[in-house]
Amino acid sequence: MSRENWEKIVEILPEEVTLVAVSKTKPVAAIQDLYDAGQRVFGENKVQELCEKEEVLPKDIQWHMIGHLQRNKVKYMASFVTLIHGVDSLRLLEQINKEAARNNRVIDCLLQFHIAEEESKFGLNFEEASDLLESDEFIQMENVRIVGIMGMASNTSDEEQVRDEFRTLRNYFEILKSHYFRFNEDFKEVSMGMSGDYLLAVEEGSTMVRIGSALFGQRN
Ligand SMILES: *Cc1c(COP(=O)(O)O)cnc(C)c1O
Repeated sequence: MSRENWEKIVEILPEEVTLVAVSKTKPVAAIQDLYDAGQRVFGENKVQELCEKEEVLPKDIQWHMIGHLQRNKVKYMASFVTLIHGVDSLRLLEQINKEAARNNRVIDCLLQFHIAEEESKFGLNFEEASDLLESDEFIQMENVRIVGIMGMASNTSDEEQVRDEFRTLRNYFEILKSHYFRFNEDFKEVSMGMSGDYLLAVEEGSTMVRIGSALFGQRN
């Protein structure tokens, strides 16, 4: 079942767009099934669940942390996480940098922006992101690498609004790229688009879609 969904989605997505299979709440067997089909990038939003799954699944899976992250949990996944999508403060980035150093590695991160109308969603505004990138603290960090940005659109059926929010995020990316990452090839990801809106996101310049329910079915 999830394998058929996967095949359809992989066929629709442009080759250069990364599919993050969001496996939160889903059993290890469902992940293994997509792994066997060829999927390697999986996303989780809870550190404990991420660590439990990482321990028992194949080691060449690239695990993305896509959820809101508490600083005291960074240490549990610092040895293996491939990409952290939800960085929305300098303090969190400092913690990631510290734990990455302890593990002798560089951890790739995305800055999360608030683009939706809803109040509840996490994320930076443009000015906060600029402040972070210009801070001495950030400039001195050696064990984190900002490889792009991430955002979630409003949960609405208004397509124009969703499209507008994705366009805003893509625009933030372009401005940051030209201001701070001009000669930095690593800064290239725009993580936007979920089950309900990934086609719109791809049209608006997403490089990475995070898809859960359209792959694995509804979550409880
Ligand atoms: C759960 C989740 C997704 C996937 O949501 P679906 O609508 O099931 O595709 C994407 N991004 C984040 C940050 C999530 O928490």
